[in-house]
Amino acid sequence: VKVVALAGGIGGARFLRGLRAAVPDAEVSVIVNTGDDITLYGLRICPDLDTVMYTLGGGIDEERGWGRTDETFTTRSELQAYDAPASWFGLGDRDLATHLMRRQMLDAGFPLSQVTAALCERWRPGMRLLPMSDDRVETHVVVDDPQTGRSRAIHFQEWWVRHGAALPASAILAVGAETAAPGPGVLDAIGAADVVVLPPSNPVVSIGTVLQVDGVRAALAAKPVVGLSPIIGGAPVRGMADACLAAVGVQTSAQAVGRHYGARSAGGLLDGWLVDSSDAGVTVPGVEVRAVPLLMSDLAATAAMATAALELVLG
Ligand code: GDP
Ligand code: CA
Repeated sequence: VKVVALAGGIGGARFLRGLRAAVPDAEVSVIVNTGDDITLYGLRICPDLDTVMYTLGGGIDEERGWGRTDETFTTRSELQAYDAPASWFGLGDRDLATHLMRRQMLDAGFPLSQVTAALCERWRPGMRLLPMSDDRVETHVVVDDPQTGRSRAIHFQEWWVRHGAALPASAILAVGAETAAPGPGVLDAIGAADVVVLPPSNPVVSIGTVLQVDGVRAALAAKPVVGLSPIIGGAPVRGMADACLAAVGVQTSAQAVGRHYGARSAGGLLDGWLVDSSDAGVTVPGVEVRAVPLLMSDLAATAAMATAALELVLG
């Protein structure tokens, strides 16, 4: 079976580990959000690609959910001692090696897709990681400055990491998405897929950004699509997806997110929508909704989620 998954960072990566365990023989291609990417100190940081790569490659810090195991932050402390402008960003010493390698290869002229493939030769994720685009796309968040009464756009990472998504956002924009071409292999992978899975990733800044890349949404219209809710009992399991949903006018509930994605038969995306057992009773017009445990508490529980997702749309 050929599976395509769209993914952000932590939620996507953990789900993919379950998917790999559930269907080890499946050929999985992951289209990864690059809208979170940011250039700091000349380095191109790709948080979602790296989270997926480290998680599937056994190099992730399990507790934090991002960055490397056994990480140290000496460089960051030194940057803080310089009062470096971006020292709010958590750059670990081990992680830095990835960013240096990526910089080196990008500077040599390789596109992000090839750089990613090269980095994956070390991590062997067991599936194909495809950046959604080789072109630069950066998510920006429009926030209102209460002091001046004016609004300004800041990079997603500044809003998310530096401000903890606490500044009320009036819009979220994927800058560059309108002209970004899908990465090599992205549309082909969707075209060859038997099923497309939307893991419990952030519906706005992870899945929502991938969907803005030219041709992706249209390609999905020809495939069975199943999604898993990142929202359980009216709250994100982790992180601040509620702040992102508020910015696009969607309630933080499994039902509202399912309806936001919408039924494929009605111009939306979904054929099937998995919600947590505690959200049983959710309905999305035109979509088959099933309630199962959706907490990725361990690999077995996560694999069961993946199995349930595939069964819902493939039977
Ligand atoms: P990010 O890029 O690191 O923010 O990660 P993603 O966008 O891939 O995933 C973030 C989402 O994962 C959050 O909205 C969480 O609610 C969701 N999430 C994290 N852990 C779980 C879990 O155990 N179960 C479910 N259903 N969602 C989860
Ligand atoms: Ca992310």
